Amino acid sequence: MITVKAPEYNKRLEICRACPHFVESSGSCGTFLKGDLITVKGRKKKIRTCGCVMRIKAKLTWASCPINSWEGYITKATIKAVETLLKSLDEKPILKADKIQDFFDTYNKAFNKNKQVTNCVGCVKEMIKEMKDALKRYKHAEG
Ligand code: SF4
Repeated sequence: MITVKAPEYNKRLEICRACPHFVESSGSCGTFLKGDLITVKGRKKKIRTCGCVMRIKAKLTWASCPINSWEGYITKATIKAVETLLKSLDEKPILKADKIQDFFDTYNKAFNKNKQVTNCVGCVKEMIKEMKDALKRYKHAEG
């Protein structure tokens, strides 16, 4: 599922519309496409708002608010689990039988999917790439 259901979508948009970083004229999170550097309480570094059109971004399952005003499906705990999993695969790129269920569980949780366990090497490689890309995007957004 790549889009969220209507109640979640509406809740996200409602939060954005009340947010001081929301730009009414473009409907974006900060300046359209560019974003803005902002200071967030509790964070040392400034962060950049995403510049996305929230009407579109808020529909996406994996999307999240750069200042955590609304929850993405990918929580910090899930990010940590993905990170640990990818690190273990970098050290030992073998998915043993007793680890394969963990691998699929972590992937399904991170992407809100329901993939069934398979031995298809190409599928697993594609999933690893997807997780690496998502982690990169997440780290970039976190600054
Ligand atoms: S995504 Fe977050 S920072 Fe951006 S407008 Fe919405 S609530 Fe504000």
